[in-house]
Amino acid sequence: MLLGLDVVQVEAVERSPTLLTVTVSSPPGLMGCPRCGVVAVGRGRKIRVLHDVPGEVPVVLRWRQRTWRCPDPGCPVGSFTEQLPDLVPARGSLTCRAVTWAIAQLRREHACVSGLARRLAVAWKTLWRAVRPRLQARAEDPARFTGVTSLGVDEHIWHHGDTRRRGPKELTGMVDLTRHQDEHGRWRVRARLLDLVPGRSKKAYADWLTDRGATFRDGVQVAALDPFGGYKAALDAELADAVAVLDAFHVVKLGTQVVDEVRRRVQQATTGHRGRKGDPLYGIQTLLRAGAENLTDKQLHRLEVAITADDAHEEVYIAWRCAQDLRAAYRTKDTAEGRRRAEKILASFHTCPIAEVARLGRTLRRWQQAFLAYFTTDRANNGGTEAVNGIIELHRRIARGYRNRDNYRLRMLLAAGGLNA
Ligand SMILES: [Zn+2]
Repeated sequence: MLLGLDVVQVEAVERSPTLLTVTVSSPPGLMGCPRCGVVAVGRGRKIRVLHDVPGEVPVVLRWRQRTWRCPDPGCPVGSFTEQLPDLVPARGSLTCRAVTWAIAQLRREHACVSGLARRLAVAWKTLWRAVRPRLQARAEDPARFTGVTSLGVDEHIWHHGDTRRRGPKELTGMVDLTRHQDEHGRWRVRARLLDLVPGRSKKAYADWLTDRGATFRDGVQVAALDPFGGYKAALDAELADAVAVLDAFHVVKLGTQVVDEVRRRVQQATTGHRGRKGDPLYGIQTLLRAGAENLTDKQLHRLEVAITADDAHEEVYIAWRCAQDLRAAYRTKDTAEGRRRAEKILASFHTCPIAEVARLGRTLRRWQQAFLAYFTTDRANNGGTEAVNGIIELHRRIARGYRNRDNYRLRMLLAAGGLNA
């Protein structure tokens, strides 16, 4: 049997329905004392159990580890045990390649640590203790920050527990939105989560930017952000030369929120209660959040039925149209045309009789420069932040929650590409 491990030979293989046990040992040879170099005297073997990359069933290596004694009575080494760092770290119980395998599974197969631990026949803690230092080392490698010319920032809630015990509920996430040329010569954003820091504030973002050093900051030409004053203040302080651009994903989301708010208000006003089955506005939430271009004729018909059921629903329709206009401005292929649409939005939304739309209009006017910058920088960051958010959400579900923020950060960096330099 070929194990693919050069450093040991297979002595025996034992199969049971639930486990594959492989006895291995290193080929014989002379061994010198690690201290004085004198040829050491063999003292037999001891069995060390290692967990290896599983197949259908978990695989256990019984490593018959050699032990020696230094014959020089003056040497302080005495007895010593064989070490094969290519096979396993000095105090590990998982082979190096099992750890590599586990990391790849976490990264690419959306596996969870407990599931992998089960396949390896080890405890969750054992696996995480072996994986964590490798992720940590990659997280600390400054090379993963090189070449970032377009930077995004976003926040999300990572826990709903006690803030005195677990710290702030929000985490600020930095996203690499730099475009790279793919094999067909097209420029694409390969969004990577660069880091997660506690809190949602100017300080959280500014401190992180300071820590990155001048070379990193000088390289950033475009900084995308959601309409949050704290992040803008951090950019003004730390990245004064970069062009601030409102992240398209966040702006479109603001539009969707407005539709939701109007729908809920009208629902309450017309029926006196929150949406329930049988109400015309009930069950169209998802339709209202989608882009009109993605709706089928049947869905458009459902929307029409809901809107025309009551004159008061006109407001929902107008809010929906406004949100669609916002989407359309971003989706326009020609950025000059997109900018004209955006300017029309800036000129009209804030005078809308629907209060929620007017408020969005005022927000956009406050952020006018950053809003319009999207159309003039030709830096279409659309989708990058959204993609990273999606990965974060997926992996939170896979792990069924995290207690430790450092572990959470490492797992999310791994999942969202942040540990690839
Ligand atoms: Zn010695």
